[in-house]
Amino acid sequence: MTSIADATRSRNAWVEIDLDALDANVAAVRRLVGQATEIIAVVKANAYGAGVQGIAPALEAAGVDRFAVVWTSEGVALRRLGSRIPIVVLGHAFPADAPVAVANDLTLTCHSLEVGRALSEAALAQGKTARVHLKVDTGLHRFGVTAAESVALAEALRALPRVEVEGLTTHMANADEPDDSFSVEQHKRFAAVAARLPWIPYRHTANSATALRRQELHYDGVRIGLALHGVQPENTPTAHLQPILSLKARVARVAEVAAGEGVSYGLRWRAERPARVALIPVGYADGWRRTLGNRGEVLVGGRRCAMVGTLCMDQFLVDVTELPAAAEGDEAVLIGRQGAEVIAATEIARLAGTIPWDVFASLQARLPRIYRRGERVDRITEA
Ligand SMILES: *Cc1c(COP(=O)(O)O)cnc(C)c1O
Repeated sequence: MTSIADATRSRNAWVEIDLDALDANVAAVRRLVGQATEIIAVVKANAYGAGVQGIAPALEAAGVDRFAVVWTSEGVALRRLGSRIPIVVLGHAFPADAPVAVANDLTLTCHSLEVGRALSEAALAQGKTARVHLKVDTGLHRFGVTAAESVALAEALRALPRVEVEGLTTHMANADEPDDSFSVEQHKRFAAVAARLPWIPYRHTANSATALRRQELHYDGVRIGLALHGVQPENTPTAHLQPILSLKARVARVAEVAAGEGVSYGLRWRAERPARVALIPVGYADGWRRTLGNRGEVLVGGRRCAMVGTLCMDQFLVDVTELPAAAEGDEAVLIGRQGAEVIAATEIARLAGTIPWDVFASLQARLPRIYRRGERVDRITEA
């Protein structure tokens, strides 16, 4: 197997995923929830930008019990990748999704009798059973059916041939807020519905933050996304997670800028003294936020270097005046570690006025995903 250094020597930029860290995060979640609670690995949105092709097989090998996605098509893609464990589709589905859901053994989150009927028909036609979960809207007011409607819909779904109402679920509104006491109220509303549907065997209510903060909400499975990526949600107890994702690039050019000259569109940064700038071949088309221009920092030569000037579609500049040895081909770290310095996804999120989920999910297909075990390449996926 090739080394990471060899595999990246001639690449402009790439996303690097540490599969050993991913394993460690699965183990950390397992320690937190114990053996009796399933780990439902949430791999929606291309596994939060980390690349579902590389992440899903590694998670399955690490022993997660189920996958969750949001679109039916994402579930189909997982099956095409060879995934054999149960897959829950957390988001909205149309009746027209039923045949493909049944054919691929996807568990839809059913919010209407129409979808239930379509699943029943498809299951009859294919000689299979359609498994569904029912989502109770306990206060987020985003998706699901109201507590008042839930019991009647569950009973109606149960009466459909070849439909198995396997799961009852809800989602918390304030999981990572400083005050998450509304989770207690949501739990009350959920428990009241669950008490009237004791025949539904599988309950799940927790995302990463809820799983970390509220053991009473673990139930039969926890839906874990961010924690698997090694990022601690805000306001949660430390879980000893390891970041799995780095964003790296190679310096494309180092140039002198005379005192008083400006750089990049609009000349919004001017050298106050003779300066040297390094060109980093990553831009907003890669998901690297334009608002970071003239504000963020990047690691070059083990040091934090200021991003200078307007960030472009495909490139931006950093000030390397203090790094006389900086040269074309040097490694630049946009997210991750270099020597003793670290730039965390949470730091980028704060600077860009967003959240780490958004920083990850924004990373575009042009960036190859390179999966590592130690210093060795495990696999590379490219658009
Ligand atoms: C995305 C998602 C999750 C995972 O959330 P994390 O905070 O990333 O763990 C869980 N449940 C639902 C319904 C989701 O949409």
